[in-house]
Amino acid sequence: MHFSRFPRLPIAHLPTALEPMQRLTQALEGPQLWIKRDDCTGLSTGGNKTRKLEFLMAEAKEQGADIVVTQGATQSNHARQTAAFAARIGMDCHILLEDRTQSNDPNYKYNGNVFLDYLHGATAETRPGGLDMNAELEAVAEDLRAKGRTVYAIPGGGSNPTGALGYANCAMELVAQANNQGLRIDRIVHATGSAGTQAGLIVGLKAINANIPLLGIGVRAPKPKQEENVYKLAVATAEKLGCPGVVAREDVVANTDYVGEGYGIPTPECIEAIELFARHEGILLDPVYSGKGAAGLIDLIRKGAFDRSENIVFIHTGGSAALFGYTNAFGYEGAGKTAAE
Ligand SMILES: *Cc1c(COP(=O)(O)O)cnc(C)c1O
Repeated sequence: MHFSRFPRLPIAHLPTALEPMQRLTQALEGPQLWIKRDDCTGLSTGGNKTRKLEFLMAEAKEQGADIVVTQGATQSNHARQTAAFAARIGMDCHILLEDRTQSNDPNYKYNGNVFLDYLHGATAETRPGGLDMNAELEAVAEDLRAKGRTVYAIPGGGSNPTGALGYANCAMELVAQANNQGLRIDRIVHATGSAGTQAGLIVGLKAINANIPLLGIGVRAPKPKQEENVYKLAVATAEKLGCPGVVAREDVVANTDYVGEGYGIPTPECIEAIELFARHEGILLDPVYSGKGAAGLIDLIRKGAFDRSENIVFIHTGGSAALFGYTNAFGYEGAGKTAAE
């Protein structure tokens, strides 16, 4: 793997920190927990899409695009990071937002990431839930082309082989960091959605023969579909990187037991996980991805799925801005009236 062969705009703050979570480890009486801070990638309020966008937006620029279009759910972190990246390099950005949750909460519809999309100067239009959003995106891109624009279209989550390069690179970065710190990583856990993060990570880990198992905690699709999506993208990414065949189907493992009612609908376990991280580590998770990923990790620890001697790295994929679209899920109205005794 040699990433310098691909165009890239090095805007993310890398390497992101790799830190121990001592108080959370103590509270769970579990394996040694570490966190890779991809919530601190530097643009807007950070997150995993910025690593992908370094490669995607470089390709857009190389192709002479004057506008980038992409799509996501209403509270999409990907859309917000794309809007911020476009602002940074002086490109226009247009977003399609899919109403996947049917929430009428004004905070969900206008605060959090949606507020930031507009703050970064993006334009947006909405779609009802359940459409083929990448087809909708292509139609909008065609419209803009007919009007004379040079359009670069980014699929949902930035998850194609170009975007996944960002996470193959993250795998190398993480293993190098652990080697320098003398940290033996026994397992990596993260939230998996549109599949680019997990696909890139598995390609990177396999290509350097790290022998570290990777577990994706799903936030939307059932297990067979999620694993198939990740596997297909991993195969294509490995080919792009010049190391075809490094990923086997059994390397791709997703646990989708923590989705709950559906995408973007927080579960009680997700809220508990967000509170645990906030109150033991001062770290903000999000209610759609990293909160559910952490809920899965925490539940598996409580069930004794991991040996206590293990070092587990949780990759924090970001998303804290979405918290402000979901304040109602926490039930804090009226809190703060009681003083500590
Ligand atoms: C997009 C996203 C993910 C999932 O990454 P994929 O590459 O889409 O699988 C996880 N966490 C957060 C906060 C995200 O925004």
